[in-house]
Amino acid sequence: MKYEGVLDWSIHSACNFECEYCIAGKNHKTKGPILPVDIHKFTDSLNKINKTIKVIISGGEPLIIPNIVEVCKEITKKHYLVLITNLSVEKIIRFFDEIDPSRVVIVSSAHFFELEKRNLMDKFISYHKYGRKKGFNLACNIVAYPGYLDKFDYYLDLFDKNSIGYSIVPFFGEYNGKKYPKEYSNEELKKFRLKNVKEFYSSRNEICPAGSKVLVCDCEGNIYRCFNFMVSKGYKLSNIEEKIEFTKNWTICPFKKCKCPFYQYEKDNFKFDKNTDGLDKFNLMWLQQILPENIVNIVKKRTTKALKRTVKFIRKAPRKIIKKLIIKPLRAVKRFVFEKLNLK
Ligand code: SF4
Ligand code: SF4
Repeated sequence: MKYEGVLDWSIHSACNFECEYCIAGKNHKTKGPILPVDIHKFTDSLNKINKTIKVIISGGEPLIIPNIVEVCKEITKKHYLVLITNLSVEKIIRFFDEIDPSRVVIVSSAHFFELEKRNLMDKFISYHKYGRKKGFNLACNIVAYPGYLDKFDYYLDLFDKNSIGYSIVPFFGEYNGKKYPKEYSNEELKKFRLKNVKEFYSSRNEICPAGSKVLVCDCEGNIYRCFNFMVSKGYKLSNIEEKIEFTKNWTICPFKKCKCPFYQYEKDNFKFDKNTDGLDKFNLMWLQQILPENIVNIVKKRTTKALKRTVKFIRKAPRKIIKKLIIKPLRAVKRFVFEKLNLK
């Protein structure tokens, strides 16, 4: 896949499953009927983008949206698609039959308890096989949910026998009074084959491609720079039915902690120029706020940590910004003092 930007679209929060650990399905019952996407408005927005992008569609369960196949068809005419699905809905057959596999990656999420409860394990496996036969690239994610522990080897064995390749991803949440992934025991980590479970990345003031290379979109179609912006509902950029527009500039991260995969996993995909000219409104606002804040911190706390953090930030920031925020005002002060003292 060769793309110049990513749009991560949480298309809907409704789902046909009720996983115990879900943040979208069981706890977010959607009121009213599940409406189709306004395909005309969406296609219009899509056609206005002047680069090739990768659209990641997740939910809830995207396949329960009435016109999801049509939406995916529009995307794959020019762009790439990653569809994240629990692979339990019959409509996937029409998807496999009608869509160009060269532009798609399907990421199935294997939710063992729900598949067993609803007698869908065989279907899940057969859809995998059918997709593969049709030439699709299928990946599978398994959540390392502590409740699966007793039967985990059995499930992996079943997948191996059916040639389903998988990745095991950590569980985020509480189970039996323990907070995961922080409190996985060594034995659990070993059994789940998990290494390096890192919950968050320290991100404040990092220069990040969010906005300029990556956009996220919520269930209402609102577009933001990244998930932290989406959760805090700050600095909405546009709506998917109006336009899908990447920002001209990178983002100086205002958040302490980042869970977004883009910062960690996509940043190497996007070689972005830290010396990009100009600053958009958000970056400028953030810099004006953060730099004096850092300097006040040094004075107030008088800690080497505060000093180090500021120096690190100044060293990383593009020269143009430093000029704007520090050098210019300093020169003005110098001029003023020299004038007063009649010096040259
Ligand atoms: S399949 Fe996914 S969205 Fe649906 S309930 Fe399970 S975790 Fe939630
Ligand atoms: S939270 Fe993460 S993705 Fe968002 S701006 Fe910060 S580093 Fe980038």
